[in-house]
Amino acid sequence: MRPMSGEEYIHLYIVFLIILSNDVSCTHQASSGGDKLLLVLLDGLRYDLFNADMPNLKQIGIDGVKANMTIPPFPTISIPSTYTIATGLYTESHGVVNNNYYDLETGIILDYEHTCNASEWFDTGAEPIWVSANFSGLTSGTYMYPGGSVEIKGVRPNKDVANTEWRWYNLPFKKRIDDVVTWFRDDDLDLVLLYHAQLDTMLHDTGMESSETMDMISEIDDGLAYLLDELNEYNLLEDMNIIITSDHGHTTPGDVIRVWDCISENDVDFWIPLNGAVGYLNPKLEKREEVSKISKSKPMIILDVFTLISLAQAKRSKSLSRTKKTLSTGYETMSKI
Ligand SMILES: [Zn+2]
Repeated sequence: MRPMSGEEYIHLYIVFLIILSNDVSCTHQASSGGDKLLLVLLDGLRYDLFNADMPNLKQIGIDGVKANMTIPPFPTISIPSTYTIATGLYTESHGVVNNNYYDLETGIILDYEHTCNASEWFDTGAEPIWVSANFSGLTSGTYMYPGGSVEIKGVRPNKDVANTEWRWYNLPFKKRIDDVVTWFRDDDLDLVLLYHAQLDTMLHDTGMESSETMDMISEIDDGLAYLLDELNEYNLLEDMNIIITSDHGHTTPGDVIRVWDCISENDVDFWIPLNGAVGYLNPKLEKREEVSKISKSKPMIILDVFTLISLAQAKRSKSLSRTKKTLSTGYETMSKI
């Protein structure tokens, strides 16, 4: 549990524009039921960027069903989006509004790794699919999936590997696949969600066309072929539905606007930098109107800050309705598959 340092705040440049749609492919081996489900979430895999370099993914799309696109929820960052995929709810309904756990009263902010493993951030009343599976008498596993290793509604998956920074740098994709195939083979799990964050990290660190990014794309694509081979080897493929999807895309930022060139840090009580498309500010009460005017005149800088802050407050006070809304795009896409 590590609050971010002042140094990290100061060096944030709010850049961005965003995030496009995701590539969604699947295979459906329907010949003998296809009653198991593996969801592979490749963080940051933009739908149109790497197709030419991912022949195996492309082939899976040809052999199975491919959605033209999915529309990520707002904000288009990893944890809110992965939880939307898991729950079928928009961000404002599942309540996981940020990649960083934060508490306006205490000022505590957790980094990504600790946020992924903070039960109180995910146990909001929303129900991820692995919990639904458990309630339905099925068995489930989560592999480094955000929120997948914490107790939600009193339930944890039957098998899990927690998401840690060490693992996302050090566990090769094929090793993750080996583990997941073992879960299906030896533990007869019904549902597994496998998360891979390293491509997103690589894209943030080195950009779209770096050799490191392209190596990662190749590793992932090889891994997908390996996954099918392994499932086939153990006679698991025929019973398996596989969804391959992503939480958002990436884009190279244009103009850079420094937040603190526009807003005085003294006017702000609390803020969270992100390396995504949205920064979060909570202006001092007496400065709210002034900061709001600036943010409206510079929409690139602060997008919907007050809405998100309000959502977080509503979440804490439990005043937000948690009735299950229909998630038009994402859920329909999954249902179709
Ligand atoms: Zn992401």
